[in-house]
Amino acid sequence: MVIVMSPTSSEADIDAIADAVIEAGCEPSVSRGVSRTIIGLVGDVGRLTTSDLRAMAGVADVVTVATSYKLVSRDHHLERSTVWVGGVPIGPGSTTLIAGPCAVETHEQTLRAAEMAKAAGAALLRGGAYKPRTSPYAFQGLGEAGLRILADVREQTGLPIVTEVVDPADVDLVASYADMLQVGTRNMQNFALLQAVGGVGKPVMLKRGMNATIEEWLMAAEYIAQRGNLDIVLCERGIRTFETATRNTLDISAVPTVQRLSHLPVIVDPSHSGGRRDLVLPLACAATAIGADGLIIDIHPHPAQALCDGAQALTGDDIRELARIMAFFPPLAGRARAHPPTPGTTSLQGTLLLVGAGRGAPA
Ligand code: PEP
Ligand code: MN
Repeated sequence: MVIVMSPTSSEADIDAIADAVIEAGCEPSVSRGVSRTIIGLVGDVGRLTTSDLRAMAGVADVVTVATSYKLVSRDHHLERSTVWVGGVPIGPGSTTLIAGPCAVETHEQTLRAAEMAKAAGAALLRGGAYKPRTSPYAFQGLGEAGLRILADVREQTGLPIVTEVVDPADVDLVASYADMLQVGTRNMQNFALLQAVGGVGKPVMLKRGMNATIEEWLMAAEYIAQRGNLDIVLCERGIRTFETATRNTLDISAVPTVQRLSHLPVIVDPSHSGGRRDLVLPLACAATAIGADGLIIDIHPHPAQALCDGAQALTGDDIRELARIMAFFPPLAGRARAHPPTPGTTSLQGTLLLVGAGRGAPA
């Protein structure tokens, strides 16, 4: 709730409002503008009614802010945003494939997976060095050694890297290697982590919490934006439902819903949604058709030996099929497939590359 004071209101009027707000258990945040004073209310505003506040001296208007997210909302930012990751666009003009292993295990495995990702049409490489595992006995990732492998593989393949950070204390370290930081489903409401990634100058991919509503997801994004980082990519990765045939239920309707509510790009993770290899490509097609701005897909050279999520990793013929989908589906959805940056290019040159590819042109 925001109280707009009239230009003729006095200091005493403002103090009286602030006192009433404090008495109701909220915190007033008073901003004195050139012509008006605005009082924002922080806290549970349940005990304050709009009509009571309107009746107080000096009050011009009381605005109930419909959305609790402002910076990421589309209300005041009609154009949908494009986020640039190492010279690769993620946004409304393109379909961007991010692919790679769930976890970085060895240099050889990561390089093989990156080559497969590139062959499938990926512009960005994914791979976790810090893994948020449900079991404390499961492989937790290689840590900084994994980040060094990713940096090496980026050097060898030219694919910018997307990698997860799970601890606010590691944000600077991970950001020093990554082209985009990933905040996973289990950390969507880790507010200290959200604020920490909001304070670094690298794009952030924010996965939807498996139990989170769309509004909670957007408020989590607002935490990042509020710290000054608006380079946020939202990722729908499936939610928990009563269904047990799939690992999660892909909430496909979240894609257009969030694109209407927020200007941020929205991508889909068909791997973690279904949790099953046979579902990844059908879900990827559905996501592209519905207008997702990109896909993030698990790939592994030897899924049977994977230390994490082998059951959902694409390999072999699936890679050729994914390449076919990436060549044909984005143009059908009115988009160009995003390409990896050509060596030495900047974001601007990346733009030209995309424009050169032509909206709707076959890749
Ligand atoms: C991942 O992408 O490796 C991952 C752990 O995903 P999620 O947070 O969606 O489970
Ligand atoms: Mn995984």
